[in-house]
Amino acid sequence: MRIVLLGPPGAGKGTQAVKLAEKLGVPQISTGDLFRDNISKGTELGVEAKTYLDAGDLVPASLTNDLVDDRLNQADAAAGFILDGYPRSVEQAQALAQMLAKRGVALDAVVEFRVPTEELVERLKGRGRADDTEDVIRNRMKVYEQETAPLLDFYAADLQTVDAVGSLDDVFARALRALGR
Ligand code: ADP
Repeated sequence: MRIVLLGPPGAGKGTQAVKLAEKLGVPQISTGDLFRDNISKGTELGVEAKTYLDAGDLVPASLTNDLVDDRLNQADAAAGFILDGYPRSVEQAQALAQMLAKRGVALDAVVEFRVPTEELVERLKGRGRADDTEDVIRNRMKVYEQETAPLLDFYAADLQTVDAVGSLDDVFARALRALGR
């Protein structure tokens, strides 16, 4: 299955992506993880991406799209994938559509994880990642509203919305149900 997960920072997409990937036997592809991995290894991409992650801004689309295109070329992604944190803008969604079209494949589902804003801020503050300071969290929320939320309309025809408040297992069960599993 080829699945895109959408949702604001702190919605728990990453955790659910790992569980879904295991259950469905496809890789989880998290652009945030790929960037953080490059940053910790000190690659050229990591050096370029770091200022954006530190500020909670989107890494420029060209860098991000190339990163995903390369990742989709790896053998394990041929039969399917779970995209976690990508696309994050209409521009990226259009780039993804081209990447899929040139491979002759299509998305099977887009799942939105929905959580009330007040709960998101509390969750993120408790997480303690380098970009989980209050100012950066606020900026990531703003970027989500401005850049990523328009994807809910872009993908309206394929969108499944999951209530992401509850235990990990409850949310996972809802996500599987949304995927018809
Ligand atoms: P969160 O769970 O808070 O959304 P992510 O790990 O998905 O965290 O992303 C962390 C940061 O990585 C973002 O704030 C952004 O700087 C960068 N990033 C991740 N995915 C993308 C993307 N698709 N496009 C641009 N920047 C991205």
